[in-house]
Amino acid sequence: MTSTSDPQQTSQSTVGVVDEAVDPYPTVPKAWYNIAADLAEPIPPHLHPGTGEPVTVDDLVALFPRALAEQELATEQYIEIPEPVREVYASYRRTPFLRARRLEKALGTKSRIYLKFEGASPVGSHKPNSAIAQAYYNAAEGITKLTTETGAGQWGSSLALAGAMFNIDVEVWQVKASYESKPYRRYLMELYGGKVHSSPSELTEAGRAILAQQPETTGSLGMAVSEAVEVAMKDPQARYALGSVLNHVVLHQTVIGQEAQAQLEEAGEGAPDVVVGCAGGGSNLAGLAFPFLKDVISGQATTRVIAAEPAACPSLTQGEYRYDHGDFSGMTPLLKMYTLGKDFVPDPIHAGGLRYHGMSPALSHTVKLGYVDPVAIEQQDAFNAGILLARTEGIVPAPESTHALAAAIDRINASDEEEVVVIGVSGHGQLDLPSYSAFVGNYESPVKK
Ligand SMILES: *Cc1c(COP(=O)(O)O)cnc(C)c1O
Repeated sequence: MTSTSDPQQTSQSTVGVVDEAVDPYPTVPKAWYNIAADLAEPIPPHLHPGTGEPVTVDDLVALFPRALAEQELATEQYIEIPEPVREVYASYRRTPFLRARRLEKALGTKSRIYLKFEGASPVGSHKPNSAIAQAYYNAAEGITKLTTETGAGQWGSSLALAGAMFNIDVEVWQVKASYESKPYRRYLMELYGGKVHSSPSELTEAGRAILAQQPETTGSLGMAVSEAVEVAMKDPQARYALGSVLNHVVLHQTVIGQEAQAQLEEAGEGAPDVVVGCAGGGSNLAGLAFPFLKDVISGQATTRVIAAEPAACPSLTQGEYRYDHGDFSGMTPLLKMYTLGKDFVPDPIHAGGLRYHGMSPALSHTVKLGYVDPVAIEQQDAFNAGILLARTEGIVPAPESTHALAAAIDRINASDEEEVVVIGVSGHGQLDLPSYSAFVGNYESPVKK
């Protein structure tokens, strides 16, 4: 792992490059931004589940390749993005940054709304930003197989894509309920060369034990994690990969915010008044917001960040800020985060990517420090905002992303201020149309009467 000095010292923007002639990917950021370097109060460390002591890089290499273990604990401000990762990023980055004029008109607002659209990635969400980096570092250390769990399939398809790029076998345990009811993402995982199992499966001790007790279970993320972790632990050539929550995942997602900053500048805007995103494990919002918070921390901007979470899984607005495990079975390090408790099972909601009991420790810390305002959004209100976006701008946002849109619209409706509002649209909803059809009949326009 190499670190860089602040690339802004050598270039106007972090997305620009010193010499375009020697950089084949001039629109792709050169480094990931690490907020740990700038926070006056450090992010609380993860604790070893056995000893209760802060985890070390050596503890983490049992789970992750060394480069990722180092990134998890890194304190450098910028970490250089390896060239092969930038090459894959260049196939879809930078992602679109759109002024939502027709949405502004519909809302009757003087505010200027910009959408940062990660739905333009090959699988339709921000998740490849970390999957590609993780596959690269695993391949570089000789790992030939990655295992993971997936709910609706966004993370599984991102890792399958990344495995295809770096010649790594990808094996995914998909929660049985989604495996059976949402086959499209499974087809996508298989198309990229991934192997997909319905979880719980007969392939693991964990799966067999669950099936012996609950033969009719429709599965859960917690069960799928146990299966994926077990397979990775038993195979020295295999590792487990996580799609959100951890510091290194958040780090990889900061390409979103760095691009948005450059794109905002190109649009002739200064620092935004508000940055809004949805928060499940926290990675897309942190990735968008942290480069903006850098300027807030240094006193150069006053941007507020809004974290929109589902009312059915309200870890930031209702959870406790304390140490908790990241998984249901208590195998992961203890993470300091806003949590509903590792045993919390939310009601099934359509925004599957937001159904997580905890929250990124880095994002939790910025909430605790007062940089980020969390809000909880009801499901119908979220879909109303998504449908309004589709009917004004044409984009069908992912059910997760509709929470960010609803929170932004609430803010705009509540004030007459002229503000610059950046909304993170973390994915598209083209594979979630059955969810939309369940809400479109009850559509109520969020436009203020
Ligand atoms: C997974 C997912 C999320 C939630 O994950 P975060 O780590 O909070 O970003 C949000 N939006 C989409 C489209 C997703 O696939």
